[in-house]
Amino acid sequence: MALTFDLVPNTTRTPATDIAAIFENPGFVNHFSDHMAIAEWTSEGGWDKARVVNYGPFPLAPGAAVLHYGQEIFEGLKVYRHADGSLWSFRPEMNARRFIKSCERMALPTLPEEDFLASILALIRADEAWVPSGEEMSYYVRPYMFASDAFLGVHAGAKITYAVIGGPAGAYFSSGLAGVDIWVTTTYSRAGEGGTGAAKCGGNYASSLIAQQEGAEHGCSQVLFSDAASHEWVEELGGMNFFAVTTDGRLVTPPTSGTILDGVTRNSVLTLAPEFGLTPDVRPLSLSELYAGIDSGTIVEAFACGTAAVITPITSLVYEREGAESKLTLPNPEGEKTLAIRAALVDIQWGRAEDRYGWMHKVSA
Ligand SMILES: *Cc1c(COP(=O)(O)O)cnc(C)c1O
Repeated sequence: MALTFDLVPNTTRTPATDIAAIFENPGFVNHFSDHMAIAEWTSEGGWDKARVVNYGPFPLAPGAAVLHYGQEIFEGLKVYRHADGSLWSFRPEMNARRFIKSCERMALPTLPEEDFLASILALIRADEAWVPSGEEMSYYVRPYMFASDAFLGVHAGAKITYAVIGGPAGAYFSSGLAGVDIWVTTTYSRAGEGGTGAAKCGGNYASSLIAQQEGAEHGCSQVLFSDAASHEWVEELGGMNFFAVTTDGRLVTPPTSGTILDGVTRNSVLTLAPEFGLTPDVRPLSLSELYAGIDSGTIVEAFACGTAAVITPITSLVYEREGAESKLTLPNPEGEKTLAIRAALVDIQWGRAEDRYGWMHKVSA
């Protein structure tokens, strides 16, 4: 039976003037909205206790499995306020399906697509006032699930918590559309064959942080990972998919195998590409081909894409060669095609262009 996420009565609400002050400078979800949707699962009873309550701490046992063995997954999507005040989410069914796949990989109970969508709808209905309007502003929704029962033997949890939280979001990168420098690591991997690379789980992020720190030491804000076996094939960034644009009008991105996250933004970019004279070219791309292409000028642009950062031009690739730092600047670091695809995508998301693919789902009443 489908879950109903009813609002627990008498929850408290932040005054409108305080929310307005947060909208002035939201950062990337530095403030969470008043409510959260939650549900609990037990191996005996299945999913139950769905509700919307005030945002607040969980009662969590120090022995809770998630704190020891990391049995956790998450999703990320945005809600956009259109000019007429209505609220819309972007392809949420794709997040729902990916959440199920992540559940399966991480031995968590699956949450049916309709319950995933209902939980988001219930949270947005409770916290409509938290969805900002304005340039590049949205409400970021974070559904997640973790093992909450206490034990130290290694096995899948029998008590699971599902929750949805969220808050107002501005631009992910402070550099905005100016683009980002990317550190290419061939020391660390985020995923390997048979591993969890295709699941959206916290563990993948935890293992990427050291490379992220190394990148920061080289003045880069993101890291490009290659395959764990040979460090020769381009995979993706820590939390974003990778694309390259060639002079002969191809849009190259590696296939999502078991080691690359199948991004909703990635899928949407591949759909939009032909409108900009670009032919999607989903195939393995080696680091040597990438470097040589940038060097000779056959690869003119590169970009990173994901829900959080939307589409961000890559200005340069920084990497270590023979013990020294090398920097390759993209021939077109401003990313002319990149920004054209970005504009087309965000125009659909904010309702400024016709939703020709049926991607938008209304979430306001
Ligand atoms: C979430 C994520 C992406 C982007 O996926 P979207 O659905 O476009 O937000 C890309 N790579 C990784 C590793 C991710 O976790």
